[in-house]
Amino acid sequence: MEHYALKINGEETGQELAPLDVTNPATGDIIATVPHGGAEEASQAVDAASEAFKSWSQYSAHERSAIIRKWHDLINENKEDLARTMTIEQGKPLKESRGEINYANGFISWYAEEGKRVYGEQIPATQRDKRLFVHKQPVGVVAVITPWNFPAAMITRKVAPALATGCTVVIKPAEQTPITAMKLANLAEQAGVPKGVINVVTGDPKAIGEAWLEDERVRKLTFTGSTAVGRQLMKGSANNVKKVSLELGGHAPVIVMDDADLDKAVDGVMGSKFRNAGQTCLSSNRIYVHESLIEAFTEKLIEEVKKLKIGNGLEEGVDLGPLINEEAVAKVQKHVQDAEEKGANVIYKGENQDSLYFSPVVLTDAKEDMICMSEETFGPLVPIATFQTEGEAIQRANDTIYGLSAYVFTENMTKGITISEQLEYGIVGLNDGLPSTPQAPFGGFKQSGLGREGGHHGIEEYLETKYISIGL
Ligand code: ADP
Repeated sequence: MEHYALKINGEETGQELAPLDVTNPATGDIIATVPHGGAEEASQAVDAASEAFKSWSQYSAHERSAIIRKWHDLINENKEDLARTMTIEQGKPLKESRGEINYANGFISWYAEEGKRVYGEQIPATQRDKRLFVHKQPVGVVAVITPWNFPAAMITRKVAPALATGCTVVIKPAEQTPITAMKLANLAEQAGVPKGVINVVTGDPKAIGEAWLEDERVRKLTFTGSTAVGRQLMKGSANNVKKVSLELGGHAPVIVMDDADLDKAVDGVMGSKFRNAGQTCLSSNRIYVHESLIEAFTEKLIEEVKKLKIGNGLEEGVDLGPLINEEAVAKVQKHVQDAEEKGANVIYKGENQDSLYFSPVVLTDAKEDMICMSEETFGPLVPIATFQTEGEAIQRANDTIYGLSAYVFTENMTKGITISEQLEYGIVGLNDGLPSTPQAPFGGFKQSGLGREGGHHGIEEYLETKYISIGL
């Protein structure tokens, strides 16, 4: 069993702190420990990051890009080890872990290049003897707090643009999945990222979070996680008016129109619902199927669901790994039970409903008063409802506090575009169950968050705009 340390100012520290166990959800085995850091370590990390900012922000964009590119190459060389680490600490099937490392690394290569394109402006002045310039500068030290469902990608899509602009970071990975984060930070160091530019602190989320929120030197917070914690962090950021980016919960609707291609629709639902056993914020949560298609759609969907192989993610051919922990199981059980009590028609229920290896459940006659129709399930439950008119489907899809992703299936592109435009969501998959990619903006409307990650949009979150007016 390995004992990991904190990474502060390029040093491995915190070995004297109490150990926090990291568990493999597939076996229940404790696979490693990390230090239980708190406010003091969080503050030391900010000391290091603010010192490192002085020099890292002065590197040229091309110098930073070369180092970030090297980090990308080292991740590629270590892909298999990183993927296995991820499967062991998080549970997702190895093929998905490999996919996530590629996706995560895509943000690094994208921002290694995008950092070279942080352009300023010259604005025509009113007077002849003035020159007006706009500069872009890094915001400073960035606090990065990430969840367990994408242990690599949630880090790289924040850290890569931060580093590319000249910011430095203090990271608190999720307590369930710190090892992938540690390994990524070690590879960054090997790539030549100077000490103090990336610092990783594990331990007490509240104590670490509060220390960073109260610290005036931390100029920005970027967070992915639950809406409840996001709200608290946003409130805490108000005290010293920190910039915030928040990627919070989703509650993705899928609309299957009467002219949908059934294969595409079922494929889209399978991909968006069962990736990471349903534990993603883009996972489809509510499926609205036009009443004329309900039988054909459910029949085809169940055929596919039956093929899913559940097991330890390290085993070849596994499609669904274990859920992350007992709380996750309890949540899915609660959603299923509530739906059953309120009259849902359970049309498929796999045999295991009481352990981390939770089998899929498909139900029809889902009603708006069921918990699964208003809260993110984060597990392999597929609630299906029928609708009659396009307007009704859109209204029901939008009737939520969330607005991260939505999906529409139709072969009529005019309809597809107009429906997409009316959906109050930051991401719409039109005949596409897997829309996320490093070069596109990812983020939510309403209470699903603030700001965007990915694409040229994502780098703006780490930049301050400075206007310089010159009198000649
Ligand atoms: P999830 O339900 O996905 O675990 P959370 O929002 O609870 O989502 O966790 C996401 C991240 O936020 C994790 O790294 C977790 O440790 C961290 N976190 C949880 N509570 C707090 C808090 N009060 N302050 C700062 N970070 C927190």
